[in-house]
Parts: sequence; C-alpha cells; structure tokens
Amino acid sequence: MATMITSEINESRVKSRALSVLETHRIWQPPVVASRLANAYGFEVISAVFGPENARCVAGYIDVPNKKIVVNAEDTPFRQNFTIAHELGHFLLAHHEDADFVQNYSVMMRNTCAVEPTPMELEANVFADNLLVPAMFYESVLIITLTQRIKSSLVFLECTQGSSVTGGDLSNE
Ligand SMILES: [Zn+2]
Repeated sequence: MATMITSEINESRVKSRALSVLETHRIWQPPVVASRLANAYGFEVISAVFGPENARCVAGYIDVPNKKIVVNAEDTPFRQNFTIAHELGHFLLAHHEDADFVQNYSVMMRNTCAVEPTPMELEANVFADNLLVPAMFYESVLIITLTQRIKSSLVFLECTQGSSVTGGDLSNE
C-alpha cells in the first residue's frame, strides 16, 4: 500500500479513527493519558534525555518494529502526552506501511525546527488533537453545565416555592 498517502490529508478519516480509539477504550471524558493507550496497543513508552543536538528539535519518535515510542524527557508532561498521541497516530493511521515514512523515519520535530510538515505529520497532529480533546468532551462539558443550570434553577424554584409555602397560607391547598 505504498500509494496510500495522498498529497492532502483526510481529516474526517483521521477524526473518526481517533474517536473509535476513545470508544474502544471507553474513554468519555478527559484526561486522556496517551501512554496508557500506547501500552494498550503494545507500545512501550520511554521518556529519554536526547543528546544536546536532538533535544532542541526532537519531541519524540516511534519505532514500530520494536514497539517503542520515545519522548523527550525534558518536555513538560502535557507536551509529552501530545507527542505520544501523535506518534501513536502514525501507527493507528498505518503510516508505517508507507515507504516514505519508513525511509524518513518518524521523528517529531518541534514547530520551530520543522521543515514543511508532510501530510502524514499533519494527520498525526490532527489525530492527537482529536484523541486528547475531541469535540465530544466539549459537548459533555456543555451538557454538565446545562444540567447544573437546570438543577440550580430547580433548587431556586424549590426554595422560592418553599418559602412561599412556609410564609404563606397552607390552607390554600
Ligand atoms: Zn510525526
């Protein structure tokens, strides 16, 4: 399947892949711990100190044959989580089956160091975004907020009705 990668990214395919991963692992709310998901797909996640030349530019990489994802230990946990999700994305989107990917090896470069990102790199970023903060999380937060508003309105109603009952004439009913 060397011709699998087109010159542009297939955003809906990437989004639905991320969503199916969350569904499979029954993750309905944040936080999404990418290393746990990586473990679930058989990857060992290694936090490593890169050499001075690589530390500045490399956030992490994936070694599919040896089932390893290596992240830059000097990055923040938040950044490492994103890197792991990005690298896992390469695997779950089957980028490793592409000859170019294997040849150029998947090293995640920082924005400041990266040359023009390839479609596969963009896809892995979209995957990571949608894995870590999918739209459904916003929706669930919205539902919780609405539910809380409705509940507090009910409490308010109960209070006002309650006070009118206690303060009013009970013989009305
Ligand atoms: Zn990448």
